[in-house]
Amino acid sequence: MKIIDGHCDAITKLFASPELDFFQEEKELDVSYPRLQRAGVKIQAFAMYMSESIKNPTFDHLLQMVDIFYRKIAVAPHIRLIRNRNDVLQVEASNEIGALLTLEGLDALHGNLTHLRVLQYLGVRSIGLTWNYANWAADGVMEPRKGGFTLKGKMLLKELEKMDIITDVSHLSVKGFWELAENYSKPCIASHSNVFKHCAHPRNLSDDQILELIRRNGLIGLTFVPFFVDDRSPVTINQLLKHLDHVCALGGEQHVGFGSDFDGIEQWITGLEHAGLYDNIINALSKTYTESQVERFLYGNWRNFLLSNLPEGM
Ligand SMILES: [Zn+2]
Repeated sequence: MKIIDGHCDAITKLFASPELDFFQEEKELDVSYPRLQRAGVKIQAFAMYMSESIKNPTFDHLLQMVDIFYRKIAVAPHIRLIRNRNDVLQVEASNEIGALLTLEGLDALHGNLTHLRVLQYLGVRSIGLTWNYANWAADGVMEPRKGGFTLKGKMLLKELEKMDIITDVSHLSVKGFWELAENYSKPCIASHSNVFKHCAHPRNLSDDQILELIRRNGLIGLTFVPFFVDDRSPVTINQLLKHLDHVCALGGEQHVGFGSDFDGIEQWITGLEHAGLYDNIINALSKTYTESQVERFLYGNWRNFLLSNLPEGM
């Protein structure tokens, strides 16, 4: 079965540990070419996340990450950069794995919309507005003042609306989420977030937020971060699937997939310790869902979203 995964932090790991080789099976890399290959992952989103260890992230840091992505991950003939709809179809018809380049948190742009467009020229196709804290555009979910967008952030939304770029609300504050809902009309994603009703963590989505994402034809990528699945450990795959059942019960059967957060986590769900183990989810899902539903959750829903929201050309 084919798989699309909406979020991982492998670039950040390769940035911090240049000795790691994406094309070898490495214990330290949850996501590596051999593991994606083994699992049947057809498209993997790779986020550029400025870890907290970089105190004042700059555009130059971002360029270094873009460089790592092109030199160490998006290497032909194995990996193809997904820039547009046609790339999705090309990857499907070949042995290649597609790589979607994404940004997690706008901090390093410091309000510079020229830099934002340059990132788009470099292949970035999805933008996570914040990480956990405030930046120049908006507040993240862990920012104590619980604010929404700044004036500059609202101007950014206007720009994002004109660009063919996907907006990602994972990590965004609740107030920010609803301001975005008012000021931005396109479908958006939560690339790696779970259901608040099943696990009351601020990173998770309320039912109202899930309904809003469904209403605007968005996508929710359920994530494998154990403490976003359940506050007791160890956490099992069946507990993760309760989040999926809930999104389906809210009418989101066509709007749910997975965004593992592999390489951004230091604890794992039992049986989901790395990207090579996606079979364990497929087996668990197959007990309650039909084959075509399982195919949709792992692949088809993300595929449809990308085919509707990636640029046609470019
Ligand atoms: Zn994240």
